[in-house]
Amino acid sequence: MTGKPLDFRSDTVTLPTPEMRAAMAEAEVGDDVFGEDPTVNRLQERVAEMLGKESALYVTSGTMCNVLAVRAHCRPGDEMICEANCHMFYLEQSGYAQLCGVAPRPVQGAGGVMQLEQIEPLIRPPDAHFPRTRLVTLENTHNRGGGRIQPYGTVEAICGWAHENGLRTHLDGARLLNAVVATGIEAPRWAWHFDTVGICFSKGLGAPVGSALAGSRELIAEAHRHRKVLGGGMRQAGIIAAGALYALEHHVDRLAEDHANALRLAEGISGIAGLRVRENPDRDRPVDTNILYFEVDPSQGTAAEFVAKLKERGLLVLATGPAVIRAVAHLGIAAADVDRAVEILAEVARHAD
Ligand SMILES: *Cc1c(COP(=O)(O)O)cnc(C)c1O
Repeated sequence: MTGKPLDFRSDTVTLPTPEMRAAMAEAEVGDDVFGEDPTVNRLQERVAEMLGKESALYVTSGTMCNVLAVRAHCRPGDEMICEANCHMFYLEQSGYAQLCGVAPRPVQGAGGVMQLEQIEPLIRPPDAHFPRTRLVTLENTHNRGGGRIQPYGTVEAICGWAHENGLRTHLDGARLLNAVVATGIEAPRWAWHFDTVGICFSKGLGAPVGSALAGSRELIAEAHRHRKVLGGGMRQAGIIAAGALYALEHHVDRLAEDHANALRLAEGISGIAGLRVRENPDRDRPVDTNILYFEVDPSQGTAAEFVAKLKERGLLVLATGPAVIRAVAHLGIAAADVDRAVEILAEVARHAD
């Protein structure tokens, strides 16, 4: 193998561009624990405005966003309804339990999408035997659902029902802007349905660090307290916040290129014998946004073996199951890289014994 590998493992592998680094180097900073970092303040105002919320808080990661939301909404002994493959439930060490004393009520969705009929019967009656149903969370786009966009009408129905029944709603919108760009439905229209919304700067947007949690002034003030006790108070954080601000200015519209590249990759893979793009329920396209899952036929060996052979040829992807592989398009991937990736995939598949 020669040259830099093509890295499709995740949209977290992006590197800051020279322009982003320049913006970071020049950032005006102050002590954010005193609320005195002008760049952090600017980012928080920008995010609140962009999502149509009163307030926003810059935090270290998407995981922290989700934990802060659960702590702001719930008390120990409360219960949270979530989708069984969502990041919060599946990939965050059960932070809601470890750090919030909250029990999950996972619901199996189709491609990450739950239906209202599935969750309607789940509200617990007021009885001392039960936890208190308190929160409903959704993930948009849905990572393990293959970058799936939640149908807008479903979001509306679930959140409307939740609020009518006195429940709170949280959106894990680490990739919400992918959904915005792909659907043309503006961010505040999605965000309006949720009491809190998290977005991530270090995924497709290509900033090196951070996420933000947005909501009412009161909820964000509460989340701010919890951020401190979890060790998330940062000082001259404007240096990294400047990367996030730069990304919001320059890297949102270009997410459409990632979506086109993921589709291009799916089309390439669909022509390779021994590989199969994973289908998602009720979609007319193999991918909604920038994430693609595909399956390897047993004749190709396991996903892990196949991934190892791809790596030898300079293509990095992620085995996420015994026969399942994930590939993600991002800022560091051009259309020509996709074509090269398809060639490598075809080569390796052809040489299966
Ligand atoms: C990556 C991700 C997170 C967690 O973000 P970290 O910054 O890695 O903690 C949360 N939710 C979703 C949907 C994600 O894809």
